[in-house]
Amino acid sequence: MSEAAEGFRPPTDLRPDIPHPARIYDWLLGGKDNFPADREAGARIVAADPAMRVAARANRAFLQRAVRHAAAEQGVDQFLDIGTGIPAAGNTHQIAQGVNPQARVMYVDNDPIVLTHARALMAGPGHGETRVLQADLREPKRILGDPDVRALLDFDRPVALLLVAILHFIADEDDPFGIVAELMAALAPGSLLVLSHGTADFISAEVERRVTSVYERSPRNSATGRSHSTVSRFFDGLELLPPGLVTAPFWHPEEPTAPEDARLPLYAAVARKP
Ligand code: SAH
Repeated sequence: MSEAAEGFRPPTDLRPDIPHPARIYDWLLGGKDNFPADREAGARIVAADPAMRVAARANRAFLQRAVRHAAAEQGVDQFLDIGTGIPAAGNTHQIAQGVNPQARVMYVDNDPIVLTHARALMAGPGHGETRVLQADLREPKRILGDPDVRALLDFDRPVALLLVAILHFIADEDDPFGIVAELMAALAPGSLLVLSHGTADFISAEVERRVTSVYERSPRNSATGRSHSTVSRFFDGLELLPPGLVTAPFWHPEEPTAPEDARLPLYAAVARKP
């Protein structure tokens, strides 16, 4: 049952004492929707690897370029954005509907604080084609079968599936590759997979341990950096669009890139279902 259909419901438990990935990311982006525990966790991440803050911003910029590309260059007008995040400047629906006012956007996140913000900011008047669902990526059948998802998105036409900075929160034992394959199998030919993923390819094992240990304190969450070849497996059976799987600043850059961008701990790509 979707949040929209249930109507407003106050978040059950925000647990401000426990750092949440969405609020840590909000803090890394310079947002205000976070608590001291989130800021302390974010500061520990930045202390372990200052590039993590740069990576958060590069990720957000990639999301925006990729959505614009999907809407403007690929002509996709339906978006399933799983791992929405706390609204920040340039959300998916704003970018997509800026290109095509008819674009439909379904947001999915498992964090009640994200849903509260999203409902207020994204699903209000004037955003008639944007809906919000509280669900977990680890339950793809529930997302695909949700009546609101089915009502908003036409599965006979291409959909852009956005899994941007979320899959590193899915542990191997939860079968992230099976989840992505199941979601893409439900989508029509011409659908897109827009994906970014944290990596430990450029950091020492010690720095990796310090970063992931921060996320181990958050509920039902851990962080798993994956290598270039492992992240490439998410695109099995799909056609990677140029320039392929690259560190995020190198995906259709709109600003000059710097040499250190080649070692940014975040891979990004867009692929098309044949
Ligand atoms: N996609 C946005 C936000 C990334 S932050 C962006 O790139 O800017 C990661 C988001 O994924 C957070 O909002 C967090 O709440 C959500 N998330 C983490 N694990 C999840 C899961 N298993 N199911 C659904 N959402 C999840």
